[in-house]
Amino acid sequence: MVTLHDLQFTPYIAEEKITKAIDVMCDQLNQDFVDQVPLFLGVLNGAFMFASEVIKRFDHPCEVSFVKLASYTGTRTTNQVQELIGLQEDISGRTVVVLEDIVDTGTTITELIKLLQQKGCQDIRIATLFFKPEVYNKQIIIDYIGIEIPNQFIVGYGLDYNGLGRNLTEVYQLKAKTMTNLVLFGPPGAGKGTQAEVLKEKYNLVHISTGDVFRYNIKNATELGVSAKSYIDKGQLVPDAITIKMLNAEVDKNEDAKGFIFDGFPRTEAQAASLAEFLETKGSEITAMVALEVDDEVLVQRLLERGKTSGRVDDADEAVIRNRIKVYYDETAILKNYYQKEDKYYGVDGVGSVDEITNRLSTVIDQL
Ligand code: AMP
Repeated sequence: MVTLHDLQFTPYIAEEKITKAIDVMCDQLNQDFVDQVPLFLGVLNGAFMFASEVIKRFDHPCEVSFVKLASYTGTRTTNQVQELIGLQEDISGRTVVVLEDIVDTGTTITELIKLLQQKGCQDIRIATLFFKPEVYNKQIIIDYIGIEIPNQFIVGYGLDYNGLGRNLTEVYQLKAKTMTNLVLFGPPGAGKGTQAEVLKEKYNLVHISTGDVFRYNIKNATELGVSAKSYIDKGQLVPDAITIKMLNAEVDKNEDAKGFIFDGFPRTEAQAASLAEFLETKGSEITAMVALEVDDEVLVQRLLERGKTSGRVDDADEAVIRNRIKVYYDETAILKNYYQKEDKYYGVDGVGSVDEITNRLSTVIDQL
C-alpha cells in the first residue's frame, strides 16, 4: 500500500501486465508503420513513462515530441479554453500517433484532436495505455488500447494524484474505505475471546487479542514477553508504550484485512487515541465499540472456572482476578464514555449461552 497526500492506494496492475500490453501494442505499431515515419506525440505529464516504453520498442525511423494541454479561463467567457503548448514541429501532412496515458470520458482527446487538426494534421492515430470503456462517451475511435479498466481512480506509471505517484512502476487503485473495525469491550471474563472467535469467521475480520499476543510472546520468551510478564502476572496493565507498539505491528501484519476485532485493546484513553490516529493513517477508523456487560460476581466465578483449565496464572488466583476487574473499572471503563461521545458505543447483555450472546452482538453489527 502507498499513501499519497491524504489517501491510500493498493496495488492494482502489476508492471509485468503493463509491459506485456505495451509489447502487444508495439507489435501492431511496428506492423502498421513500415512505410511512413510517424511523429509520436506524448501528452505530458501523464504519458511520459508510457511514451518512453513505446518509443523504445518501435523499430523503424520515427520522430518524437511532447505536448501539454493547458486550460485557461478565456477573458470574454467563463468557459475553460484549452491550448496546446510545446509543439514545434510542422505537422501538416504528417502522421501523428498521440500517446496518452489514459482516456476516460474522451473530452481531452477530442480537444487535442481538434487542436491538431487546426494545425493542419489530417492523419491522427490515438494510442492509450489505459482506457475506461464504461465512461467513454465520444465518437472518436481509439486506434491502440493497452489495458481496459473499470471506472476507477488509478495512479502510478506516470499517472498522478495531485502531483504524486507518477514514479510508481505499477498501477495502484484507491483503497476502498469499507473496513469494519470493532472494539470488543468488557471486563475480564466477559467472553470477549469466545465471541471474537465466532464473529471473526462470520464477518471475515482479523481478531487481535492483546492478551493472546502477550501470552504468545511470554511463552516464546521474546523481548516483548519479558517486558510484559511482570505486569500481567499481577493483573496490572502493561505500559501503553509497549502495548501500542505491539498492537500497531499486529495491524500492519494484516494489510489486506477487511477489518479487525480488537479484543483487549484499547484499555486506556491513550491507547484509544493512538488507535484512532493509527487507523487514520490507513484511511480508516473504529466503526463501533461493542461491549459485553456482565456482573462482577459472575465474572469472578467464570474466571476461577476457566483458571482450572486455562493454565493462566492470572486466572488462578482470586485476588489477581479481583485486581483485574478493579483495574478495568479504574482505568478501562472510562473508554465507554470515549466511544459514547463519538456515538459508537453499543452495550450488549453478556449473560446467556454463547449462541444467544453471538446473536445479540450480530444484531448490533449488522446495523452498523
Ligand atoms: P486479557 O487476556 O485481555 O485478559 O489480558 C491479560 C493481561 O494482558 C491483562 O491483565 C494485562 O496485563 C495485559 N494486557 C492485555 N491487553 C492490554 C492492553 N490493551 N493494555 C495493557 N495491558 C494489556
